[in-house]
Amino acid sequence: MKIESHLAHIGSEKEPVTGAVSFPIYQATAFRHPKLGQSTGFDYARTKSPTRTVLEEAAAQLESGDAGFACSSGMAALTTIFSLFSQGDHLIVSLDLYGGTYRLLEKIMSRYGVTASYVDTNDLDGVSELLQPNTKAVLIETPTNPLMMITDLERVSAWAKSKGLLTIVDNTLLTPFFQRPIELGADIVVHSATKYLGGHNDVLAGLIVTKGKELSEQMAFLHNSLGAVLGPQDSWLLMRGMKTLALRMERHQLNATAIANYLLEHEAIEDVYYPALPHHPGHDVQNKQSSGNTGIFSFRLKDARYVEPILRHIKLIAFAESLGGVESLMTYPAVQTHADIPLEIRQKIGLDDRLLRFSVGIEHADDLIADLEQALAEAKREIEGV
Ligand SMILES: *Cc1c(COP(=O)(O)O)cnc(C)c1O
Repeated sequence: MKIESHLAHIGSEKEPVTGAVSFPIYQATAFRHPKLGQSTGFDYARTKSPTRTVLEEAAAQLESGDAGFACSSGMAALTTIFSLFSQGDHLIVSLDLYGGTYRLLEKIMSRYGVTASYVDTNDLDGVSELLQPNTKAVLIETPTNPLMMITDLERVSAWAKSKGLLTIVDNTLLTPFFQRPIELGADIVVHSATKYLGGHNDVLAGLIVTKGKELSEQMAFLHNSLGAVLGPQDSWLLMRGMKTLALRMERHQLNATAIANYLLEHEAIEDVYYPALPHHPGHDVQNKQSSGNTGIFSFRLKDARYVEPILRHIKLIAFAESLGGVESLMTYPAVQTHADIPLEIRQKIGLDDRLLRFSVGIEHADDLIADLEQALAEAKREIEGV
């Protein structure tokens, strides 16, 4: 069966008593034992909870893994994953990283003696140079956000395996609909399900999918012990969102491609960073390992003075953080999502004060282009007086 059919049927055949097509919300934390030494499979909701279990099984299947774990946020999922590591361990991490992940590593994990080095993970020579005797894993975002750098997952995970390292991939931007890292050699996939999987800017959630029995057992232990699990209502909301993932991703991609091409031709724009564009350095690798493109891209203005009026004049597009929902959102990474990343790293990767990130929603592309056009025209009028 194809992924579209799996997505539409998440939970639909799982409720045997009434046959409810929408799997119910089991709002319970305790489960009766039939007798001493017996269990229904559910004992206490932190360990296992029926609505969450249906979601977790769907996540594992969609990502071609062995086990899924639903967490209270993407950061909770990353915290659970990082708890695999011990004092003295070292990680190699994508340079243009989600700001919150960088903050978790540098401000919190570092206090527990887990260190990280940052590099363009597609540069295997650069990655190899960072290898230490205590290196335990490579953490990859592809595409990165906001600069949309692409890493060849097959190549890097094969290298990691040869060195005995785990490969962890944050698949938030592409989702299993477009890219399945475990099929390319990764051991762990992580999602901020708050973004495309939920898809409606209304539920905060994270997902982990693991490959292999031992790793899955270790993760189950950490998930239960740390306790950053997803509640039944949010598990249900997430499944409800995921049922339409295929339709949404196709529209996000279509809209983003149309708008990226429009902006590329605009006189106020210096460049557009979107792997679907042929001039993007990661274009070929992206096409090789993924069946489509995300709805996120960034663009750089020629003049930083345009940023403030554009953000003030966009109407249909909201000036807001987050990404991956049905509504279009625009954000200013240098002062918002990526403010925790030190200036020298931001400068090194080109995350400067002329860069805007656009999470293209599922509105009609013509309306989004019209909104951008009027905002750019207003900005020009204010700055140049014409
Ligand atoms: C948003 C995001 C996270 C963090 O997820 P939350 O659900 O906000 O905790 C992690 N990685 C990426 C790529 C993200 O976009």
